[in-house]
Order: sequence, then C-alpha cells, then structure tokens
Amino acid sequence: MPQRSVVIAGAGQGGYQAAATLRSEGFDGRIFLIGEEPHLPYQRPPLSKDFLLDKQERQPNPPADAPVRDRVTLRPEHFYSSNRIDLLAGERVEAIDLATARVRLASGSCLEFDSLVLATGSRNRLLPVDGAEREGVCYLRTLKEASVLRQRLEAARDVVVIGGGFIGLEAAAVACQLGKPVTVIEAQSRVMARVVAPPVSEFFRQRHSANGVHIRFGAGVARIIGDASVQAVELADGDRIPADLVIVGVGIVPNVRLAREAGLPLGDGVAVDEHLQTADPRVFAIGDCAEFPSRFTGTRVRLESVQNCVDQAICVARCLAGRAAPYSATPWFWSDQYDIHLQMAGLALDANQHVIRGDPETGKFSVFYFSQRRLRAVDSVNRPGDHIAARKLIAAEAAITMEQAADAGFDLKVGISKKGI
Ligand code: FAD
Repeated sequence: MPQRSVVIAGAGQGGYQAAATLRSEGFDGRIFLIGEEPHLPYQRPPLSKDFLLDKQERQPNPPADAPVRDRVTLRPEHFYSSNRIDLLAGERVEAIDLATARVRLASGSCLEFDSLVLATGSRNRLLPVDGAEREGVCYLRTLKEASVLRQRLEAARDVVVIGGGFIGLEAAAVACQLGKPVTVIEAQSRVMARVVAPPVSEFFRQRHSANGVHIRFGAGVARIIGDASVQAVELADGDRIPADLVIVGVGIVPNVRLAREAGLPLGDGVAVDEHLQTADPRVFAIGDCAEFPSRFTGTRVRLESVQNCVDQAICVARCLAGRAAPYSATPWFWSDQYDIHLQMAGLALDANQHVIRGDPETGKFSVFYFSQRRLRAVDSVNRPGDHIAARKLIAAEAAITMEQAADAGFDLKVGISKKGI
C-alpha cells in the first residue's frame, strides 16, 4: 500500500478509535490525530457516573492528573508514539482547504492530507435564559467541566438539574447519592421522553422519587436568579427553586463549522453516505458530528453514543486500509443511574407499539418496540441477557412476534435464527 497521510480532526472517542484501528488494520502511512482539548484522548461516559461520584478522588490535593490518568484516559501516551500516531493535543483544526488538500491549524501550521476524518463531536446546547452565565451554572461534557462540577458538588447545598435526559438524570443520581437535595426541571411530561417508552420513564421517575429527587414536569425555565453566583432558578410559572448549583443538560449541538466552511453538505450534522464519506470522497465524518443513512430506520440519523462513534471509526479505518464496507452496525447505548443499568438496542424512532417482558415491580424488565409488527428496539432495565439477545435479534431482523417478546418463558435465542419478513 502506498504511504499516505490521514488527518483526523478531533481526538475524542471516535478520533482515537479511527487512529488505533488504522494501525491495527495495517495502514502504514502517517496518522495525525488533532484534538483541541489539552489531554490524551479520554472517554466521556464516566464523567456523569463514576468520575463524578468517586469518593476516592475526593481526597484533598489529589495529583492534578490522577483522575485523568486513572479513570478516563483511553490509552497511555506511549501507545501513540509506539503506534506512530502523531497526537497533537491542545491543537485545533481551524480550516479545511479542499483545493490544496490541507488543514490549517490554530498554531498557524498546515498539514496535507490524502484522507481527512472529521471526528469533531458536539458541544453543549446553552441554556437560552437570563442569568445563565452566573457562577454556579455548570455543564457536563468535557473533563474540565466534570472536574469543576465534581468540586462544586462537594460544597453544594441545593442542586437544580435542568433537563431530564440521560446526562441530567445521571448527574441528579450522583448528586443525590452525595446527599444533596436535588430538583430536576423537565419540559416534557416524563423523563427521557425522546428515547424511551412511558413504562421506562415511569420506572425511572419512581426510582428518582424514592431516592428523594424532586422532578418538576412540564416546567420551563424563565431565568437564573442571583448576584455573582446563582441563588435560584425561576420557572415560567413564577416559582423559584433555591439553588447554589445548577447543572444544565439540555442536549448538544454537532460541531460542523469546519465542514460548513469547506462547503461540504450538512443535514443534522455533516452529511455522509453509507461509507461515511462526505460529498468529497477524501473526507469522512464519524460519531456525534455525522448524519448518515441508517439501515434500521430507512432515514438519515445522527447518533450520540460510544457504540456509534467507535463502530463508525472502525468502518472508516477499514475503508482507508483497503477493506471498504457500508456502515451497518446495530445501535446500542447505556445509562447508569443509582444501581440501575439501562441498556438500549436498536432505534425506536418510528416504533408505535411496545410490549413488556418481565415485571417493572421487580426492577428487572425489558420493553420491546415494534412497528408494523417488526422488532425495532429493546430497552432493558437490569436484564443484560435480554440486551445481548436484542442486539442479535435486531441485527438479524429476526421474526420475533410481540407475543413471544412478552412471554418471559420464550427463549429469545430461538428467535435469533428466524429471519424476519
Ligand atoms: P467527542 O468524544 O466529543 O470528541 C470530539 C473531540 O473533538 C472533542 O475533544 C473536541 O474538543 C474535539 N474538536 C472539536 N472540534 C475540533 C477542531 N476543530 N480541532 C480539533 N479538535 C476538535 N454514550 C454512551 O454510549 N453511553 C453513555 O453512558 C454515555 N455517557 C455520556 C456521558 C457524558 C457526560 C457525555 C458528555 C457523553 C456520554 N455519552 C455516552 C456520549 C458519548 O460519549 C459520545 O457520543 C462520544 O464521545 C462521541 O464521540 P466523538 O468522537 O464523536 O466526539
């Protein structure tokens, strides 16, 4: 294979995986992995779970990089040097020049590429209300933000979480486990409404409530009140909820500026085809920033998950190493709140029917989502066996019926071998 140069913009989970897989797949050219954050590539899921909660790391004066090194870093520094990956941490890709096949870096230098992978991820959606810039209003996406939040949680008296999605609820669970009074403000009538069915929302509502978390449904935030620091959150109905720490989890916005300024087409992210290639075949996009055609929904989607960015990175790396295949991995996701492990397989977007397997009262159950009697997705609460089977059933487009799914006596493994209609 001729020596080539691959530039990867963004050194998060997807960017790291693309670089690592290029090498493991035998790619022998140069690899530049460029990340604006000043750390080795790290994983984000622990930031709203163990990292935020871990009491061990709450000792006075821990080594400055201890949490990074021990908890979230994907690979130590020598991994990059020994794999001949030029990791430029704390460096930013400022612009792409497609005409000369170069990227311009914030430091002023330029890098030529034969292939470019956009793995720029996403950023926090900001709370668009008065007072949102006050001290004590925190977000949770980067290691820096998680470190700040962890410190603030220590001293917080009243915590308000804005947004009852995954990040908000995981943060609420941690704050509650640290003994803080917590109120969650949610605009919808149930938690995680965008992604799970009502029985799952209700189960989580009950668990949060049993742990003392107060959830305000159908509530809008009017403004954040305080002096220099936050003192309360004022709701649209005029209610004021005291808070000296506000955690905002109202979604993310994909980082598409580089692609847009280079003239590459966008949808709800950088638009790519089934090979994750943009309109310029030298440029790929993966992970949180990419909008791609899903074989599971028949529509274009953008997914925010570790599975998606890792599998897309592997798909692109294989393509660049000469083994191109369309992206077709089965989507899956997880969330941990208290001792509850929620695992989700498939995409329930167009599903209009669901059945429950197991009993929510026992704390262990799964919801199987169907549309046109075809299995689309499964959410499993503390039932890892169902989740593993679900991933296989969905990948195989298996012909499991709603009655079989609901029958706890039915062996899901039997269904996997039956191809769907
Ligand atoms: P990222 O990991 O966000 O990496 C993108 C990187 O690119 C960032 O470091 C960014 O600074 C950098 N960058 C952007 N623009 C430039 C530029 N121009 N030049 C250089 N660098 C640039 N998913 C799950 O499946 N399960 C979970 O439990 C889960 N929990 C999560 C908890 C938290 C707190 C968060 C924030 C996310 C969680 N996710 C979870 C989502 C998952 O972490 C993301 O989907 C995944 O990290 C996406 O990877 P990515 O490589 O696309 O983007």
